[in-house]
Amino acid sequence: MSTVAFIGLGNMGGPMAINLAKAGHTVTAFDLSEKALAAVKAEGVNIAASAADAIAGAEAVISMLPAGQHVLAVYLDEETGILKQLNKGALVLDCSTIDADSARALAKAGAELGVGVMDAPVSGGVAAAQAGTLSFMCGGSAEDFERAKAILAGMGKNIFHAGDNGAGQVAKMCNNMLLAIHMIGTAEALQLGANNGLDPKVLSEIMLASSGRNWSLEVYNPYPGVQENSAASKGYQPGFMVDLMIKDLGLAMENSIDSKSSVPMGSLARSLYTAHGMAGNGQKDFSSILNLLRKPS
Ligand code: NAD
Repeated sequence: MSTVAFIGLGNMGGPMAINLAKAGHTVTAFDLSEKALAAVKAEGVNIAASAADAIAGAEAVISMLPAGQHVLAVYLDEETGILKQLNKGALVLDCSTIDADSARALAKAGAELGVGVMDAPVSGGVAAAQAGTLSFMCGGSAEDFERAKAILAGMGKNIFHAGDNGAGQVAKMCNNMLLAIHMIGTAEALQLGANNGLDPKVLSEIMLASSGRNWSLEVYNPYPGVQENSAASKGYQPGFMVDLMIKDLGLAMENSIDSKSSVPMGSLARSLYTAHGMAGNGQKDFSSILNLLRKPS
């Protein structure tokens, strides 16, 4: 069992830190939000007054932060950055979804200090974070991957080694572009059926047993009332925020320019999510994209 510092206790990081503590690791966590700290304190996670305090004696650090700028600031800020304060031989696992170039820059800085760094973004959403069944997509050395597995196993069930540093983020970027596309497609099909008088629950059952079956339809249905515990049935409380999906689609678009890749569906998905976010839905769950396609009641 390891001594682990956990930075970023939001919708994902909170339940991940709790599961890690339940798995027997000693977890000390920090978040800028007092509310986020209070939520994990009752569940066996030690809380710290700063990121620097959280890493005291840590063999590994896990971060679950919104975007690349937060990750680079936490680790590399000239004054407060924690990377240079870590013990030699420590392991950093950044589970946030960020651009591959920032992940590689962090790994390079870590290598210069004798600290192993892996990008280890996740898939599965809040439900999988709570259940400890996340998928991890890791980028880094084979040696660091072996060390990481023992820790990540406390929070997930599928742990993949995608390749060198940055490869985990590339895998995550591809996955989330596909997720955005099939969430919009699923919402579009369900709304088309509803506009024609079909019960979205019955239509979902039909498509789940047919060739339209997909994760958004099966696990994260965007139509209110089809699944009791879905974000859609709870007023689109996140979950996974529209603003974060816009960020992820932005990463895919920037990368598609650099890698000269044609991504017409991803590009359209980014435009639709951006319009939806600009209409005041940025903090809602990403399955609320259905409302963009609904007739006003
Ligand atoms: P969130 O906004 O709920 O949580 C982020 C947390 O980071 C917040 O509690 C915030 O206070 C904290 N934070 C920000 N800056 C900080 C700093 N400098 N020091 C300490 N804490 C700081 O976001 P989330 O939904 O938990 O997502 C986190 C990451 O995981 C994102 O990169 C997201 O794209 C990715 N992700 C989210 C989901 C999902 O379903 N929500 C699924 C897979 C991946």
